[in-house]
Amino acid sequence: MKFASTRGGSPEVGIDDALAAGLAPDGGLYVPLAIPEAHLDKAGATLADTAAALLGPYFAGSRLEPQLADMCRAAFDFPVPLRPLQGAGDYLLELFHGPTAAFKDIGARFLAEALSRLRESGAPPTTILVATSGDTGAAVGAAFHRREGFRVVILYPDGRVSPRQAHGLGCFGDNVQALRVEGTFDDCQQLVKQALTDAGLRESITLGSANSISLGRLLPQMAYYAHASLQFRADHGTSLNFVIPTGNLGNALAAWLARSMGLPIGDIVIASNANDVLPRYFDGADYRPQAGKATLANAMDVGAPSNFERLRWWHVDDAAVRASMRACSVDDGQISAAIAGAPARHGLVPCPHTAVALHALESLRAHGDRRPWAVVATAHPAKFERVVEPLIGHEVKPPPALAAALARSATATPLGLDYPAFRDWLLESTAVQ
Ligand SMILES: *Cc1c(COP(=O)(O)O)cnc(C)c1O
Repeated sequence: MKFASTRGGSPEVGIDDALAAGLAPDGGLYVPLAIPEAHLDKAGATLADTAAALLGPYFAGSRLEPQLADMCRAAFDFPVPLRPLQGAGDYLLELFHGPTAAFKDIGARFLAEALSRLRESGAPPTTILVATSGDTGAAVGAAFHRREGFRVVILYPDGRVSPRQAHGLGCFGDNVQALRVEGTFDDCQQLVKQALTDAGLRESITLGSANSISLGRLLPQMAYYAHASLQFRADHGTSLNFVIPTGNLGNALAAWLARSMGLPIGDIVIASNANDVLPRYFDGADYRPQAGKATLANAMDVGAPSNFERLRWWHVDDAAVRASMRACSVDDGQISAAIAGAPARHGLVPCPHTAVALHALESLRAHGDRRPWAVVATAHPAKFERVVEPLIGHEVKPPPALAAALARSATATPLGLDYPAFRDWLLESTAVQ
């Protein structure tokens, strides 16, 4: 299978090259030239089995093809349960049972398996730069921790992630280092972009990226939609609809891609926080990226959803894009109310991101929708204890992997908003590796 750039100015490549590059040379995002049909009529015995069958066509003819099943087994070694909730037809797809208690573990672990298998033996180590608003950095750090031939440098906005998130970013040690940047998430992303396009720097250090536009993170996210929807159809004879907490649109795009491959997925609803670029667009306005606004669901504070470029590429026009899913915006007051009401209404404690989707489900039900819906739970509530605990009035116990991370000590190096200082730090810290 061949992959093209959304901007049309780069040569078509196979998946190995698309994974290694991250971004296409013309600045676009890689997309498969055609969406293959899944030919899956039932779920595999495990999520890893479903993933290997689903991803097979994308890897046909690649160096990784013979290793795909092993990669899936190594990456997807934790459960992703579809849990019935209290209300008839309400389900929760729990994506937070990985090592850092957020769904980004799934994409990050698959990408790490792919990149370490693509690495030539004896090549110089690759430094992976990752800007994060919280969850991505931890997932990428965990996925590459102590992996031979890789080093990870995480940049996060100082004071703008939850204390537990900050701890989770700084607790790795070894080949994973955290920089707390005096600035916003967009500033962190800008520093990373500057480094990745600094030809002089790249002569001294082999740099890589692991951000949410990498195909190696997008494609594996289809696996849980495939697995859950096939199981659901086997049990209930019908397709399953999804409400998806959305920031950069990677998770929702994976659901759309899985549905386009023929999986029994019904409607897709994108639930955004107060960053409402997508809801406005789906309501008919032009697509107008904005600066990100801080909300209670901080991992979704995105004003320019990067995967929109892929969604747009696959459709002939805006009307076709708008017919592919629906979108709604949920403000901080509604997020708080959804968290506070969730124990009684749904029998669960949600993280703020999952609460955005729960609010969206509640409004569907209030409008008389009786179809089966799964709310996608993107993180464990214990990661956002400062938001969640005051609203529900009791402590939320961290799951074992998160508790283990919290028990380790954490450090982060302060960094001013200063590219030359970042560059010098990278060169010096690489020299001592
Ligand atoms: C990243 C993240 C999201 C948003 O996912 P996208 O793929 O960027 O739309 C939602 N919830 C949590 C907890 C996240 O970490």
